[in-house]
Amino acid sequence: MRKIFITVSVLALTACCAQKTVIKKTGSETTSNNTIKNTAEIYANTITADEMKTDLYIYASDEFEGRDTGAPGQKKAVEWLKKQYKKMGISSVDGSDNYFQPIPEAYFEGKAYGDSENVLAYIKGTEKPDEVVVLSAHLDHVGYHDGQIYNGADDDGSGTVALLEIAEAFKKAKYAGVGPKRSVLILHVTGEEKGLFGSRFYAENPVFPLANTVANINVDMIGRVDPQHEDKKRYIYVIGADRLSTGLDAAVTEANKNLDGFNLDYKYNDRNDPQRIYYRSDHYNFAKKGVPAVFFFSGLHEDYHQPTDTPDKIDYPLMTERTKLIFYTAWELVNSKERIKVDRDGN
Ligand SMILES: [Zn+2]
Repeated sequence: MRKIFITVSVLALTACCAQKTVIKKTGSETTSNNTIKNTAEIYANTITADEMKTDLYIYASDEFEGRDTGAPGQKKAVEWLKKQYKKMGISSVDGSDNYFQPIPEAYFEGKAYGDSENVLAYIKGTEKPDEVVVLSAHLDHVGYHDGQIYNGADDDGSGTVALLEIAEAFKKAKYAGVGPKRSVLILHVTGEEKGLFGSRFYAENPVFPLANTVANINVDMIGRVDPQHEDKKRYIYVIGADRLSTGLDAAVTEANKNLDGFNLDYKYNDRNDPQRIYYRSDHYNFAKKGVPAVFFFSGLHEDYHQPTDTPDKIDYPLMTERTKLIFYTAWELVNSKERIKVDRDGN
């Protein structure tokens, strides 16, 4: 997540592996809600802590040198992401070998080391392919300083590997004949730490019209437990869901019914949040343009934007549970009978 300057007192910080899954088809057009839920669960369960851990130890390794926008380490990161999608058999938007949306250096207002790129992967909807749900996470971090690499395991390696797992789950569902009815666009954005540049570039140059973009689900920092939740760690902050669409907010609530006793925390959704979290990650560039957006976040911690944000500090089972919640939310949005509506004014 993007760092902004605020006083410390306000901060209050304590500082392919595809296994074919066979599904019985009901043989009926009117699949019951329960069956849909059970189907979602089958694919949610392909999201595993082991896979997330394996991926994150690579993505947040020193090899990627803190993934600074435009720097060689960031280039390695995008090549690695592309390789993962190819391995999983998940295509680019146009089916070609090109998974990148290039962004010229000049766009970053002097803050990048060179040209950069967003990474896009696409799962085409089976019934309403023109309607798209965009899942985003930022691929960049802050590089290295004074010989220390900022690995950004939580920020935002956690969101990055969550998208890989969610994409794989949808791909497996599609392979088994229960693919998403609407399309899923996986969007790894660059330049977030420099000022939400990659998501802004996408919102200004959308690959699918924003009018056909049902919602944006943004995942930024979901691997840790913040000081407020040390005793009750099965939680996630849900931010922004209700600002443009009561349907999006309801989808998150509905999705959470799949997780037993998991806590949705709306603290940072407070319009008067002094830390202005709502404005500090990539979903905001969608919301600004009227696309319903929700931001999933597990909070700030002592290693936020420090070289100590490393993969050994991630709670993998917990991150897996959160990723399942996000998958279920996306599942609701792509498979619901009616597309969610924009019925609120954004405030
Ligand atoms: Zn950050």
